[in-house]
Amino acid sequence: MEKYNLVIVGGGPAGLAAAISAYDKGERNMIILEREPKLGGILNQCIHNGFGLHTFNEELTGPEYAQRYIDEVKKRNIKYLLNTTVINVSDKKEIKALSEDGLLNIEAKAIILSCGCRERPRGGINIAGARCAGIYSAGTAQKLVNIEGYMPGKEVVILGSGDIGLIMARRMIFEGAKVKAVVELMPYSSGLNRNIVQCLNDFNIPLMFSHTVVDIKGKKRVESVVIAEVDERLNPKMETCQEIKCDTLLLSVGLLPENELARGASVDLSRITRGAIVDDQLMTSIPGIFECGNVLHVHDLVDYVSEEAKEAGEKAYEYIYSSKDESYEKTLIKTENGVRYTVPELIIKNDDYNPLTLKLRVGNVYKKVKLEVSCDGDVIYSRMRPVVAPGEMEKIDLKSEQVEKLRKATEIKVYLRSQE
Ligand SMILES: Cc1cc2nc3c(=O)[nH]c(=O)nc-3n(C[C@H](O)[C@H](O)[C@H](O)COP(=O)(O)OP(=O)(O)OC[C@H]3O[C@@H](n4cnc5c(N)ncnc54)[C@H](O)[C@@H]3O)c2cc1C
Repeated sequence: MEKYNLVIVGGGPAGLAAAISAYDKGERNMIILEREPKLGGILNQCIHNGFGLHTFNEELTGPEYAQRYIDEVKKRNIKYLLNTTVINVSDKKEIKALSEDGLLNIEAKAIILSCGCRERPRGGINIAGARCAGIYSAGTAQKLVNIEGYMPGKEVVILGSGDIGLIMARRMIFEGAKVKAVVELMPYSSGLNRNIVQCLNDFNIPLMFSHTVVDIKGKKRVESVVIAEVDERLNPKMETCQEIKCDTLLLSVGLLPENELARGASVDLSRITRGAIVDDQLMTSIPGIFECGNVLHVHDLVDYVSEEAKEAGEKAYEYIYSSKDESYEKTLIKTENGVRYTVPELIIKNDDYNPLTLKLRVGNVYKKVKLEVSCDGDVIYSRMRPVVAPGEMEKIDLKSEQVEKLRKATEIKVYLRSQE
């Protein structure tokens, strides 16, 4: 059994930033375990630019952004193992991993889970039709084009207008394919507005809201897809069906946090984010197990992943060296009126009054609203938002005096108030 103070599972942007911050706090006895042959996570296949505007004030590609953190990890001589898949984490903080040298058994004082997320597959949304070739998740297509050098197809329809679908629409055009339409079930996009403008509008790719794919036709390979408009209950209106000839269907229908390890360790998971329920130390329900990045909740920008992970590294370090009793009393943040969730979801009672950021997503597009936080009925934070949308993560930065109220409250609510 190998022993480390801190084990970080996943060497993507979250794992790298967490390792750097734990090191900078003083931790030397730690390791990053990464299943891929390279550090950097999903960023390695995101060769488009647009990363790092907040962190570096520059527009970097995904690999460039990742490299800045990889360089920092190497500069500090932080230990990492590649081609090493963690297969189990226990609530006692024992880790089993498969590496090139066989099975590793590791014991840790603290663990940071930063395993990212995966794409929802076709089976997750039950599209009827042929099970022929030519149906890919958008991320798989991205890997084929950007890393393996293969073209998934020539005439493409994309289902889902999340960021990966939007980015891939433009990418396929760059590679010479024709993108016939991006079809979106909801009346709004779950992707960033800037991606709709830069990836669809600039290339005249139609974005069809409130539509879905109801059939896939083809024998060996996709020959066409049938799309239909949906009603307000998202049921297809079959009289609106239209057939689009294509040889490829890309699915960009949601990301799911990879929480199998957390589940195995009996960590409490949120039914909304599908990530762990964490307190404001980013600690899960199992003391000493932390989560950050896309495994905790799907972020829109990698800069926010790095920010959150930096905090996780610091908190894990403090946990390892603190003699605090772990049985904190915590207050659950209730979300109402359009707010789907917050991270953290739990606030430790009567802890320090350091500034704190709550991250959240809303469930629909709302215009002219106030984003508010109340403690025992008193509004402690209120900010006007001309528009909020599910695709964009909202942040609430609370100052010390507001955090003091939060820590003393017995009821905390985060909600939208209409201004119309
Ligand atoms: C296609 C796509 C396009 C994007 N475009 C942009 C953009 O333009 N701008 C932007 O700011 N953000 C963008 N993002 C978001 C950004 O890439 C993510 O926010 C960020 O990569 C999340 O970091 P992470 O470390 O949490 O997860 P990941 O990057 O997914 O890293 C997780 C790592 O954990 C490893 N891992 C998982 N399970 C295990 C295990 N059991 N054992 C060992 N290792 C494990 C994985 O191999 C992976 O390397 C995009 C994301 C995608 C998918």
